[in-house]
Amino acid sequence: MSPLGNTGIEVSPLGFGASPLGEEFGPIDVGEGARAVHEALDRGVNFFDTSPFYGRTLSEKRLGEALEGRRDRAVVATKCGRYGQEDFDFSAERITRSIDESLGRLRTDYVDVLHLHDVEFGDRDQILYETLPALARIKESGKARAIGVTGLQLELLADLAEAFPVDVVLTYARYNLAIQDIDARLAPLCRERGIGLINASPLLLGALTDGGPPSWHPGDPELLLAARRAGALCRERGASLAVVAMRFALDHADVASTLVGIRTREELSQNLEALQAEVDPDLPADVQAILRPHGTAWTTGRPENHDAAFVRAL
Ligand code: NAD
Repeated sequence: MSPLGNTGIEVSPLGFGASPLGEEFGPIDVGEGARAVHEALDRGVNFFDTSPFYGRTLSEKRLGEALEGRRDRAVVATKCGRYGQEDFDFSAERITRSIDESLGRLRTDYVDVLHLHDVEFGDRDQILYETLPALARIKESGKARAIGVTGLQLELLADLAEAFPVDVVLTYARYNLAIQDIDARLAPLCRERGIGLINASPLLLGALTDGGPPSWHPGDPELLLAARRAGALCRERGASLAVVAMRFALDHADVASTLVGIRTREELSQNLEALQAEVDPDLPADVQAILRPHGTAWTTGRPENHDAAFVRAL
């Protein structure tokens, strides 16, 4: 187990991303998804991440059902503020209602972490002066043990973490075989401040797997093409790109937990085995030689929140 910053919460190095339970990556076998949750707990994976956005509440409902009777063994993180592809509401009123709705679906009276979901879609001043104070009140009420921010735009995440005492920061697709810019500012900041750092999407939202990316993958087509070539190289060498990618991501010293989306017990096993996997020492560098020329993250959210455009409004 690893400490989640200064929260006093201990999380497993491999975390269970529950967005696939909401069918974000296509239809799933619901019973199998629940069995994957149970087996995860039995095999030492205690950290589960969901959101009302995933499957428009389906992921929270299914995770809540699967954790019934097992809640005390799990560390549960959910989110607020994002409810659809274009449906964001960062008002204090909506956030305050949102946690109660999430607790109902998750069949619990508290979550371990409540995140503001995808901050780059919001207004920085509203987040700092209205939304995060509402999350802090939720923490004071005991409905969340810790609060955090999630997103893709690293400069905004770091700026918010400097300006407001969040406990946790979650970013995705920023530390993997192709892209490693989490180290530029966010990881050192979290280390200095005792903020729990979570790295999500180590498989680059499915791109670094033999199954390939979902149709909605926002990455540059050149990056996705390079990922296919990397998969072919791994197969030629008798290895699996997903295992090489997991092995790589799991080694980051500042990351408390690496969140991978899981649909089945088989995926769970493969990802747990990656913790101990012996990878041909030359292979990660050879794979990176293919990926890194295309290893730039895409942009999302409001233009003023993009990394390139972001100016600290002090
Ligand atoms: P990911 O990189 O973890 O890829 C998930 C895909 O890979 C799924 O299709 C999954 O079934 C498949 N997969 C998993 N293990 C595999 C294996 N061993 N072999 C082959 N395929 C495998 O992407 P993700 O699911 O987007 O990210 C992980 C989790 O992180 C999410 O479920 C979510 O909980 C969290 N997340 C949060 C945010 C946010 O807060 N803004 C953004 C992205 C992800």
